[in-house]
Amino acid sequence: MKKVFITGASRGIGNAIAKSLLEENYTVIGTATTSEGVEQLIEEGILGYKLELDDLERINTSWEKIPNEHLDIDILINNAGFTRDNLILRMSEDEWSDVMNVHLNAIFRITKRLLKPMLKKRWGRIINLSSTSAVLGNKGQANYAAAKAGIEAFSRSLASEVGSRGITVNAVAPGFIKTDMTESNSGVVEEELIKQIPLGRFGESAEIAHLVNFLCSEESSYITGQTIHINGGLYM
Ligand code: NAP
Repeated sequence: MKKVFITGASRGIGNAIAKSLLEENYTVIGTATTSEGVEQLIEEGILGYKLELDDLERINTSWEKIPNEHLDIDILINNAGFTRDNLILRMSEDEWSDVMNVHLNAIFRITKRLLKPMLKKRWGRIINLSSTSAVLGNKGQANYAAAKAGIEAFSRSLASEVGSRGITVNAVAPGFIKTDMTESNSGVVEEELIKQIPLGRFGESAEIAHLVNFLCSEESSYITGQTIHINGGLYM
């Protein structure tokens, strides 16, 4: 069965994707930032490893702790992420660079390392999590929106490079999905946001997982270089 490597598998969208792929009998290798998160993954049947994307040097040495057979993957899902929101005039250098590191610089390093087995097999899937913020922009999220727009451009460029080797690369751009990331919105803010969504609700992580599951499958083999939006109509 095909092997999947997914970052940020311990919570939210990543956890829903990992569980849905396990149900389809994929071998799932997932990452978390804490030992508790890794234990949780193992209990769930996911091959869990600790990987913190803030520290770019550490990403390069983290591979040494993961057995080679678990790095010989077919499918890479770059999902892990966080936000450090602030208005531009108040945004610190760290808030800017932390988001760029975790979302954009880490994806470059992880993809470069895990692309190799796919090139050898002449088959692969790479799915990168973007966001509607990349196209709509969002007050207080210049760092996050810029990083996500970068992920989409990165995905298109990589798709052009590796298409001839049977590898597809796509971005999935969710709107507002109920996870810890959106939990901090107050009830009033949530009500205001819902008014802008034609389907009148936030999405569920499982709904993103269904789409990602399809993009992992053989049936999606002619889709590459795309950003697929899944947002209840918030952006169309
Ligand atoms: P979440 O519930 O907050 O989960 C984030 C996951 O990423 C966790 O597994 C977390 O690991 C991991 N992670 C966080 N910071 C990390 C770091 N510095 N290094 C390595 N791993 C880290 O987030 P989510 O809502 O599921 O978001 C998943 C992806 O979807 C992200 O790329 C996000 O930008 C994107 N997205 C989400 C929404 C939304 O509405 N929720 C909308 C658009 C796009 P720990 O458990 O160890 O902390």
